[in-house]
Amino acid sequence: MNRIPCKYCGREIPPEANFCWYCNRQLISQPERPETGQKYKSAKQRALVWAFALVIGLAIILFFVIGSGG
Ligand SMILES: [Zn+2]
Repeated sequence: MNRIPCKYCGREIPPEANFCWYCNRQLISQPERPETGQKYKSAKQRALVWAFALVIGLAIILFFVIGSGG
C-alpha cells in the first residue's frame, strides 16, 4: 500500500486520490497553459523556420571547414 501525505493537511492518502477526504481539498492541479498544438500558424511559416535552421547549420559547417582548413 503506497500512500502519500496530503500537501495541505499532511495526512496519508492514496497517490491516485483526486482529493483529500480529510480536508476536502482538490489535489489535481489544472494545467496553467493548455496545449494548443498549433505552434506554427502555417506550413509557409514552418518552411521559413526550416530555411532559417538550414542557413544557421550551413554557417556552422562553413565556420568549421574554414577554421580547420587554415
Ligand atoms: Zn488533506
